[in-house]
Amino acid sequence: MFEKVLIANRGEIALRVHRACREMGIRTVAIHSTADADAMHVRLADESVCVGPPNAAASYLNIPAIISAAEITNADAIHPGYGFLSENANFASIVAEHGITFIGPKPEHIRIMGDKIEAKVTAKRLGIPCVPGSEGAVRTEAEALRVAEEIGYPMILKAAAGGGGRGMKVARNAEELPRVMATARAEAKASFGDDSMYMERYLQKPRHIEVQIIADSHGNVVHLGERDCSLQRRHQKILEEAPSPALNAEERLTFGNQVAESIRKLGYLGVGTVEFLYEDGQFFFIEMNTRLQVEHPVTEGITGIDLVREQIRIASGAPLSFRQEDVKFNGHAIECRINAENPRTFSPTPGKITDYHPPGGLGVRVDSALYSGYRVPPYYDSLISKLIVHGANRNECLMRLRRALEEYVIGGIETTIPLHLELIANNDFMNGDYDIHWLEKFIAGLPPLK
Ligand code: ADP
Repeated sequence: MFEKVLIANRGEIALRVHRACREMGIRTVAIHSTADADAMHVRLADESVCVGPPNAAASYLNIPAIISAAEITNADAIHPGYGFLSENANFASIVAEHGITFIGPKPEHIRIMGDKIEAKVTAKRLGIPCVPGSEGAVRTEAEALRVAEEIGYPMILKAAAGGGGRGMKVARNAEELPRVMATARAEAKASFGDDSMYMERYLQKPRHIEVQIIADSHGNVVHLGERDCSLQRRHQKILEEAPSPALNAEERLTFGNQVAESIRKLGYLGVGTVEFLYEDGQFFFIEMNTRLQVEHPVTEGITGIDLVREQIRIASGAPLSFRQEDVKFNGHAIECRINAENPRTFSPTPGKITDYHPPGGLGVRVDSALYSGYRVPPYYDSLISKLIVHGANRNECLMRLRRALEEYVIGGIETTIPLHLELIANNDFMNGDYDIHWLEKFIAGLPPLK
């Protein structure tokens, strides 16, 4: 097992990884930018190294500085968390070239899945059902019009290099397709430096359902059920739950096993999430994330499995500590992403936390790096806390979520807690009756805040 792990991240996920390491008797190294010198992840780690200025490109994405930090501190492994360098195949290779273990998948799989066109081709080859669309990239307007004619409108144009809900545009008919394509391309070029686009049928009322996979280096591949992440704003997840209210136990196992079997053929290593849209009883692959996800705690809630611990064990060469038949799904879990944002306009609200009182009690988990007196910096993602609640069933989980949200005090800045409270007072949500377009309509219909 590793003696020391460098955590190449910040915020709640750096704490999450630190906690798993601590429980495993592994020492930790935090990295931080000058803006994060007072951050909780720096305080808790055994050692810390400043890797650059506030701007993430010069600190949390600064590969030479991070490798130097690992070398200076003698770390044997690097955990990338999510975001930042977690899906950078080049970084994973460089880490390995320095004799350090990258806690994540093989670089080749990160690379394949990072190109969404190649990911889809690979998924198809593995027998995973995909959203009908173009075979690979669409290069010209004429080609796009031909594909759309064949598949039918509306179509969604997606950037091969896209991620985080960015680089997607919908075309409703042939008339607007050329203009939509030109805008999508320009945006993809500006955001990702790559304007390769592909097209898919734009599904009208799907749910977003993703399957958690975990694979060791001994050929064991296990699925840990699904998460329903249909509640999204601008293609970004706001609240996630497991199991999905849309699937029954048999569908869960059958589909989970099918996905695990495909991933086994790929020779995948580590944790990964295969994302699908689900409509009229059918699953359609959209992408695979080759990393730990923000919403992994809901899976931990219903399985009792520590995903980060398993991730670290697998990276050290150990076999999975359980088999598929050992995995039992217990009760229901929901995660609310709490952002430092205005709950109506969603504009970021960085600033000083004057009071902090997280909820507690049975079935309540808070993953956050906040503390009273902490100043939320303006430079990074606005996610400041994840509230994860577990209950014996969905109903109990919802009641517990309401009281936990009511207890949660984050003073000094605006957060999205009020939005979550409004959401869980809604009947459609309470009944699990929603698709990926539902939340935007719900938000549009909300009255002004008092
Ligand atoms: P990203 O990599 O940016 O997260 P994804 O391909 O995973 O992009 O898609 C993110 C979200 O965009 C999905 O969860 C869904 O809400 C929406 N989306 C993607 N593809 C389609 C599609 N073909 N039809 C309808 N919505 C889609």
